[in-house]
Formats: sequence, C-alpha cells, structure tokens
Amino acid sequence: MDLSYILNELGEDRELYFNSVAPPIIQTSNFSCKTVDALRNALQHESEVDFYTRGNNPTTDLLEKKVAALEGTEHALAFGSGIAAVSAAVMSQISAGDHIVTVAKPYSWTNTLMKKYLPRFGVEVTFVDGRDAANYEKAIKPNTKVFYLESPNSFTFELQDIAAVCAIAKRNNIVTIIDNSYATPLFQSPIALGVDIVVHAATKYISGHSDTMGGIICSTHETITKIFEAEFMTLGGIISPFNSWLLLRGLRTLPVRMERIAATTRQVVDYLVNHPKVQRVFFPFLPTDPQYELAMRQMRNNSGQFTIQLKTESIQEIDLFCDSLQHFLMAASWGGHESLIYPTAASYNSGNYKSELPVNLIRFYIGLEDPEYLISDLEQAFSKI
Ligand SMILES: *Cc1c(COP(=O)(O)O)cnc(C)c1O
Repeated sequence: MDLSYILNELGEDRELYFNSVAPPIIQTSNFSCKTVDALRNALQHESEVDFYTRGNNPTTDLLEKKVAALEGTEHALAFGSGIAAVSAAVMSQISAGDHIVTVAKPYSWTNTLMKKYLPRFGVEVTFVDGRDAANYEKAIKPNTKVFYLESPNSFTFELQDIAAVCAIAKRNNIVTIIDNSYATPLFQSPIALGVDIVVHAATKYISGHSDTMGGIICSTHETITKIFEAEFMTLGGIISPFNSWLLLRGLRTLPVRMERIAATTRQVVDYLVNHPKVQRVFFPFLPTDPQYELAMRQMRNNSGQFTIQLKTESIQEIDLFCDSLQHFLMAASWGGHESLIYPTAASYNSGNYKSELPVNLIRFYIGLEDPEYLISDLEQAFSKI
C-alpha cells in the first residue's frame, strides 16, 4: 500500500462526519443499540464492533488501521502506553511454566517485566547477547515459547539479525515479538523479515510531539483477536480517544520528521565521532561499527538516538558537560520535536553505581532543530571540560 495513501486516505470515512478533513474525537464510553437483536449481535462480535470503548472506538480504530497498514499486518491494537503493548504482547504468548529468550538490555521496564514480574507467575526468562543469532538458538529449552527482540536495543543500540533469529524461531515453533519503536514502521519492516508480532511505543516517534503516550501491537487477525479477548479486555490498558487522535495527527508528518531527524543526526554524529573528548559513539550506522553491514541490510535509515562515551570518567566533569548544554533538554523518552540527553551518571549516587553500563555514557536524541544550533551548543559545553 502506498505510504501517502495510508497516511492521508486509508480509513477516513469523511462523509460520515460532515466531510471534516480531520477525524472527530469520538469521546464516549459506550455506544447504544436500537433493538435487542442489535445488542445481541454486538455482544457476539465485540472485538469487531463499536460497543464499549474499552473494546473499540472509531477514533482509535482509525489509528489501528493505519499503523497495521504501515507495518504490513492484518490488524493492530492500540494501548495507553508502549509498555502496556509490550506486556500484553508477551503475556498473550505464555503460560506458567513457559520460557522466554530475550535480548539483553532491552528498554528498562521491559527488563523489569522479564526479570521481576513474569517470574512471579512461573515464567522463566533467559537474556542473551543478541548480536549473534546463535545465542538465541543455544538458549532454547523444551518449554521455550517466545523470542523477544528489540533492534536496535535501548542505550547501546545493538542489532539482532532479525531474519536469522526468526528462521531459528520458525524451525522450533517459537513466536517472535519485536519492539520496533527505534526504527518506526518507516525504517524497518520486521514482518517482511519473519517476525510474528510487532510492538511500538507510539509515545515516541508516532506521536512526535512529546504530548501523549500510546502503544500499539501489530499482527495477524488471529493473534490480535486472541489478545483482544484476553489481555486487552481483562487488563484494560486502553488509550483514550483523544490520545489516539493526537497519534493520528503525529502520523501525518511521520515521514518528513523522520527524514529530517535522520539527516541531522548523521551531521551531529559526524561532529562527535571526531571530537577529541569523545571515546566512542554507539551508532550502528557508522561505517566503522561492527554491525554496520547488518544495519544497512535490515534497516532503511537511522533514527535520532545514539550514545556517546566521554573520555573522562569524572562524575564532576560529566555533570558539568551535561549541565552546560542549553539546547538539549535533560529528560527520559525521545521521538518529539526537542533534542534530549540522558546520562547514565544520573544513576550514580554518593559513590554507588548499579548500572550494567559505564558511568560515562550520555544518550542523545536529536529532534527537529537545525544541526548547527545543536553542534554549537555541544562545542561550548565541551569547552567547559
Ligand atoms: C519508551 C519505550 C517503551 C515504553 O513506552 P511507554 O510509552 O513509555 O510505556 C518501550 N520500548 C522502548 C524501546 C521505549 O523506548
């Protein structure tokens, strides 16, 4: 399906709402039926009809239709946050006694789900270095049900060879789930590489304006219906119609924002790679990166996140550099209009440091500002240390 068609026309029933160009926000909890027979029909087909907003809502349906088309799946389900989508997708595929193999160092709360939450229900989880697909195979046990991927992963941006991991999964009857938030549906198509279920933190690039949260699961009609009837309706982590509408608004400009972010990021990375105070840049799109060839093969472009390792390990100097930046906000998340930094040193308290990652890492997110504006800010902050 054509990208412009998906973003501008797919699912837009404008004649139903006064030919307004923007879709309405159908802010209602429930929908009425005229007859008992209509009510009977609604109850029988609750996963398909607008009956109660915890199940379906027209504003949210439009969002789901577009994101499913972008990912090339039959269907999608929207959630109130990215982690609600991650949890529902994972939990839908396992029962007590099952085993999951997951990439090491995934997004922080995915890590907590795998490490602390699921073990409470008798689910075993093995973390593997995803840079070698063979590590997934080696971790398989008779009860392995899910391979979980996040490519690139958070903070260190390590890739998994998606096609290779999926081939191993298929031979062993294992379901694959990937968090595709970094790449967006535009820069990486996991379904074409063999993935079964794609999840997104729509809070990030799909929103694009740092003003709403949301999550999405994309998969087959069968898998989505299974999730609808279990995790979706019982745990109820739904998105509000207004937040779906904000995500629809974000989607309209996703291609132009991503192109702009990709180009600015490459300029900023080029500046940082050559900087004498920078030890290393974690960014798989550098020709010197060991995973460069894989990045070029399975992704269409880079996004706006990368991490630098400073040469200094002094907390005072790291703090001074970060505090000196004036055009980068210090915040979690990413994907909005504004550039951000997030230093691992923030987890360093009075000499205590628990992270698996070095203390001198700073994750960057490049937003929509001019590259020169950002680079001159970096230059003045570097001059302070
Ligand atoms: C932010 C994020 C999530 C969680 O999304 P929320 O909307 O914050 O719940 C999941 N995966 C990745 C890779 C993320 O960056």
